[in-house]
Amino acid sequence: GDALFCHCRPGFEPELAAELAERAAALGHAGYPRTQRGSGFVEYLCDDAAQLARQLPFAALIFARQKLLRLAELRGIDPRDRIGPVLATLDTICSHDRDGAAFGELWVEHPDSDAGRPLSGLARSFGNALRPALRKAGWLSAREQPRLPRLHVVLLDGDHLLLGRSHPGDSAPWPQGIPRLRMHAQAPSRSALKLEEALLVLLDRDERAALLRDGLTGADLGAAPGGWTWVMLGHGLHMTAIDNGPLRPHLFETGRLEHLRADGFRWQPAQPLDWMVCDMVEQPRRVAVRMAAWLREGWCRQTIFNLKLPMKKRWDETRLCLDLLEAQAGRPLTIRARQLYHDREEITVFARPR
Ligand code: SAM
Repeated sequence: GDALFCHCRPGFEPELAAELAERAAALGHAGYPRTQRGSGFVEYLCDDAAQLARQLPFAALIFARQKLLRLAELRGIDPRDRIGPVLATLDTICSHDRDGAAFGELWVEHPDSDAGRPLSGLARSFGNALRPALRKAGWLSAREQPRLPRLHVVLLDGDHLLLGRSHPGDSAPWPQGIPRLRMHAQAPSRSALKLEEALLVLLDRDERAALLRDGLTGADLGAAPGGWTWVMLGHGLHMTAIDNGPLRPHLFETGRLEHLRADGFRWQPAQPLDWMVCDMVEQPRRVAVRMAAWLREGWCRQTIFNLKLPMKKRWDETRLCLDLLEAQAGRPLTIRARQLYHDREEITVFARPR
């Protein structure tokens, strides 16, 4: 039968399983998550997974990198012909009854796990062989069509795969939910990639245009050596970087950077800022409470910050911290949170008053 299928960071299956179970139960679905630790994905099985997939927007999921509706599971496939069974399965489960093709794009994927990564070569070659066959059979549009659903093939082994469907407006725009961001030579640290990904994932295009532009102001709490500050400077902002450690000297060439050696849990701006970003390694509850104070006092209009989650009950801690954030902010917030591809034992949060 159908299931919701989500990719995640290997090791975080229990968090994603708990998240899906809680969200599905709240929506009235009686089902259960199925997963294996380290597998890089979680399935949620219930009577009407298609409805659950519609009710649970991808943007609202924290530990999922990608969301699909699983259409079928094929086991024991003959490695000499993997295309035939895929076409035959599509014929039985999908209706051909519309004018155009059913799918606008094909992604052949594998879980981001130790077992899945060796399948990347096969995924590429199988995708190249399957794509023309799907076009010939009328399943796939001749050119990529971002308005149509996407067909996913998830390889679990050489003879075992899943077929799934996602909607471009309600899923990650990258195969496996992994953005291919390149580390810039001028970036002071790899952490810069985290904030770059956060701005792509947690803001939409219009928000990026409106909120990341010349002349806006921001603070970076726990800024050294300056990766996040470098990203914000690159968008034209004036930045105040708070850290007892040193920043890379080239950042000051912009003329828009001030460095203060101060405690990021005590410092507050003299005037309200557009942005506050924070990557301090601290207990997540302590960070959440401080971020809430910034929003409550109006010291910033919006914030992006990390919550480090080294403890065992990481889903419970996530819920607790996000509840604490909203409660202590003293006003309704827009909160978007995600474990990004570039996040390790942490999640990244965007918040602002609603
Ligand atoms: N985002 C940075 C980047 O992109 O380069 C990396 C930040 S690093 C993970 C964490 C930083 O937080 C450290 O430089 C540390 O000195 C700073 N930090 C930790 N506690 C702090 C505090 N109470 N006040 C100010 N900075 C603090």
